[in-house]
Amino acid sequence: VGGLPHLAALPAPKLSFEFFPPRTEALEAQLWSCIRRLEPLRPAFVSVTYGAGGTTQARTHATVARIVKETSLTPAAHLTCVGASRAEVEEVARRYWEAGVRHIVALRGDPPAGVERYEPHPEGYAYAADLVAGLKRIAPFEVSVAAYPETHPTALSPEADLDNLKRKIDAGATRAITQYFFDTGIYLRFLDRCAAAGITVPIVPGIMPVSNFTQMKKFSAMCGAGVPDWMGTLFEGLEEDAETRRMVAAVVAAEQVRLLQANGVDEFHFYTLNRPDLVYAIAHLLGARPVRA
Ligand code: FAD
Repeated sequence: VGGLPHLAALPAPKLSFEFFPPRTEALEAQLWSCIRRLEPLRPAFVSVTYGAGGTTQARTHATVARIVKETSLTPAAHLTCVGASRAEVEEVARRYWEAGVRHIVALRGDPPAGVERYEPHPEGYAYAADLVAGLKRIAPFEVSVAAYPETHPTALSPEADLDNLKRKIDAGATRAITQYFFDTGIYLRFLDRCAAAGITVPIVPGIMPVSNFTQMKKFSAMCGAGVPDWMGTLFEGLEEDAETRRMVAAVVAAEQVRLLQANGVDEFHFYTLNRPDLVYAIAHLLGARPVRA
C-alpha cells in the first residue's frame, strides 16, 4: 500500500520560524511566550520581519537584539530597501552587524498603501538583488531572499521572475524562502524550474498555518498566493467556530508538510504570526523534538 513514509525513515527536519515585531506591551508578551515555546525545537534560525516601508525599523532591531542577548537562537533580520536611500539602509545593516547579527533576509518591500506602482528611491537600491550586493559589500552577512512559486504579482513573466531570483543568488544570497502556498504541486514544479535555471541554493518552503481562513484569503489575494477551492470547502461554515477551525488548520498544514517531506523536502520556514501552538504541533509531526539546555 502506498502512502507517506514512516517518520523514522526520514532525517530530522531543519526548521526556521518567522516572527513580527510587536506594537504593544501585550503583543510583546505574546511574542516572547511564542519564542520561549518554540526555542527548544532548536530551529536553524528565527527571523523578524521589517514592517511595510521600514516602519518597524526600531522595533525589528530591538526584537532581534533581544533574541541575540537573551536566547540560544540565531536571529535573521528582515531588511527592505523600499523608500530608503542606500545610506539609510547601510546604516541599519551596520548596526545589525555591530549587534552580532550575521544573517539578513533581504527584500525590496512594497510601495506604500494607495501607491500602485513601485518606484525605487532616487538614491536607493532599486531591487532586492541590488540590496543583496550592497549588504555583501558592508560585511560578510549570510543573506536569504524571497522566492515566489506562483510568480511575484507584478513580475513581467514567470521567466523574468526566475531570472530575478537567479540575480539575487548570483549577488550572494545562499537561501531563498518562498511566499506561502497551499498547492504543493506548484512548489515542487517550481523547484524543478529553479534547478533547470541553475539555481542550486535551498529553496525553503514558507509554511503558513491558517488560523483565520477569511483573513488569510484577503491577504493572499494581495500577495499573489493562490487559495485552492478545496480549502474553501474545508473551512466552510466555520467562521464562528474557532476550535474546529484550528483542528482543520492543523490537518491542512500537517498534510502539506508531510507531503513535502515525502517528496524529499527537509527544510521548512514557518510564518508563526507570533502564535506557537499550531507551529509546534506541525513541527512535532515532522519529527522535531524539544531539546532543553
Ligand atoms: P524583488 O526580488 O526585488 O522583486 C520584486 C519584483 O520586481 C518582482 O516582480 C521581480 O520580478 C521584479 N524585478 C526585479 N528586478 C527587476 C528589474 N531590474 N526590472 C524590472 N522588474 C524587476 N515585506 C516587508 O515589507 N517586510 C518583510 O519583512 C518581508 N518579509 C518577507 C519574507 C518573505 C519570505 C517573502 C516571500 C516576502 C516578504 N516581504 C516582506 C514581502 C516583499 O517585500 C514583497 O513581496 C515585495 O513586493 C517584493 O520583494 P522581493 O524582495 O521579492 O523583491
